[in-house]
Amino acid sequence: MMLIRIQYTSRFKKYHFSPNYRYKCGYMYHSHTQKTAHLTNLSHLQYRSILKTFTARRAIQPGKQLHAHLAVTGLAHDTILATKLVDLYCSCNFLTLAHQLFDKIPKQNVFLWNVLIRGYAWNGPYEVALELFYRMVDHGVVPDKFTFPFVLKACSSLSAESVGLDVHEHVLRTGWEKDVFIGAALVDMYAKCGNTSRARNVFDKIPDRDVVLWNSMLAGYGQNGFPEECLVLCGEMALNGVRPTVSTLVTAISSAADMSALPRGRELHGYSWRLGFNIQDKVKTALVDMYAKSGLLKVARTVFNSLMEKPVVSWNAMITGYAMHGHAMEALDLFEKMTRDTRPDHITFVGVLSACNHGGLLNKGREFFDLMIHEYKICPTVQHYSSMIDLVGHYGRLDEAYGMINKMPVTPDSGVWGALLNSCKIHGNVELAELALEKLIELDPEEPGKYVIMSNIYAQAGNYKGVEKIRKWMTHKDIKKDDAYSWIEVNNKIHSFLTNDTSHPMCDEINAELERVEKLMLEAGYVPNTTPVFHDVDDDEKRTSLCRHSERLAIAFGLISTPPKTKLLIKKNLNVCEDCHVAIKFMSKITEREIVFRDVNRFHTFKDGVCSCGDYW
Ligand code: ZN
Ligand code: ZN
Repeated sequence: MMLIRIQYTSRFKKYHFSPNYRYKCGYMYHSHTQKTAHLTNLSHLQYRSILKTFTARRAIQPGKQLHAHLAVTGLAHDTILATKLVDLYCSCNFLTLAHQLFDKIPKQNVFLWNVLIRGYAWNGPYEVALELFYRMVDHGVVPDKFTFPFVLKACSSLSAESVGLDVHEHVLRTGWEKDVFIGAALVDMYAKCGNTSRARNVFDKIPDRDVVLWNSMLAGYGQNGFPEECLVLCGEMALNGVRPTVSTLVTAISSAADMSALPRGRELHGYSWRLGFNIQDKVKTALVDMYAKSGLLKVARTVFNSLMEKPVVSWNAMITGYAMHGHAMEALDLFEKMTRDTRPDHITFVGVLSACNHGGLLNKGREFFDLMIHEYKICPTVQHYSSMIDLVGHYGRLDEAYGMINKMPVTPDSGVWGALLNSCKIHGNVELAELALEKLIELDPEEPGKYVIMSNIYAQAGNYKGVEKIRKWMTHKDIKKDDAYSWIEVNNKIHSFLTNDTSHPMCDEINAELERVEKLMLEAGYVPNTTPVFHDVDDDEKRTSLCRHSERLAIAFGLISTPPKTKLLIKKNLNVCEDCHVAIKFMSKITEREIVFRDVNRFHTFKDGVCSCGDYW
């Protein structure tokens, strides 16, 4: 006789006196508090039923005992029961036991393969799931609609696109290409491998799309840096009458945040309100991030304060928001509040160090860097180092910064060397800059930004031979300088401008406004600084191209197309140049406008002739 003791749980309590349930599971209770089961003379159906219950409850110990019992009675060789046992072991993440048993069973049924493939696809090693899939095909077992999503999940986890493509071939051969579950898995796999166009191809071919499929495609766009496409698709989804989920809204709001597209972010806020999702903490956290990235820190903070529970991601969103805007004290104050009951993670410290960096707080930065390593035992990543190198380098401690790089336990990336190069530009250190440039070229020879900075470093040092050398390199390697462009959203429409852009329909009005404002700026004491111009051109030409830098065109357009006192939000794909930074300060004072400017690294808020960055960037 075999006795199995079941853990006493409240759910069992519920069924305690139900005779049907007891019969169904083959239990005979000896007393009310201690349950033991007699497992002799049960039918095949009853064993299956018990195993199903054990699997649902992840009851591994009773499962093992039952396995032993079945082995004694010879029933462990029964394919159906053995498959159920493999399922139980997989669900409890006992993959070795599952695999051992699997090897002993005849393998005609696809369910058995699916169970083990799923086990590995969920828990890893993912390669084993792929190996099993190919072995299954070799055995002549035809994969079904459940096999593919598991195999594709393993491909996603490994970012193995070539295998994913091959699995896709199998999907086509077996005629499952229109299945919505498999479609979602394919979209997810291609998106995780960074191939959004293939993901979209699959998506477009599925006739009956459910919300999971839409969400996979939206997430694919969001995670791969296509926020605009994500928002367009989100609109299509609404037009198709598909009810969004929390995940849809979080993805869409994050895309609006990435674009600093405040009007669309606001619309999504209203939409989530109407759907009743605005009380969800995940949606609120996305809103905190969106409002912060759109320059509305006070609104972001209000949403943050209204969170019922504050998980670490919400704290991170708010701290990073303050950091991006250079509000270092608020960020550090929030960090202090957070650590009273929440443990910070490595992203919290990316925010905190970037706050110290953007606020120019050298000693605080060093303190937090130490705190992170020694108190919280968090291993610094390249992101933490980039902030530290930038901070130390800004203060002119270039040797210390370089020493830090040499002692890094992780391989420095372009962010780290880029931070050093920038610091060299501020402090005119040509020698160290050349070294940083060399490393940056090794990492990515094509990226043009570093050549432009180096050329400017040479130009500042009066080394025109150096400028010429860089120009020749760039011509020789056919590297084109990134076109600088800025954009502003007015009445839900994005208006983009390049330097010296004359393509906008209101070009004449924009130029007239720029001239009017510049005249007032010169009267107020503005002196154009001509050094940041890339090539060595004469002063007059420098001045014209400075005055027509893309951000100034975007601001002038904002000034003439919005009511007085309206806050302007300008975005740029590169950093602001020193002269434009000075000019925009004048512009904010003369035009009585608050101008929020988002460059690649951070935000500047210009108001009454000063910038929130305190001229430290
Ligand atoms: Zn400029
Ligand atoms: Zn600034």
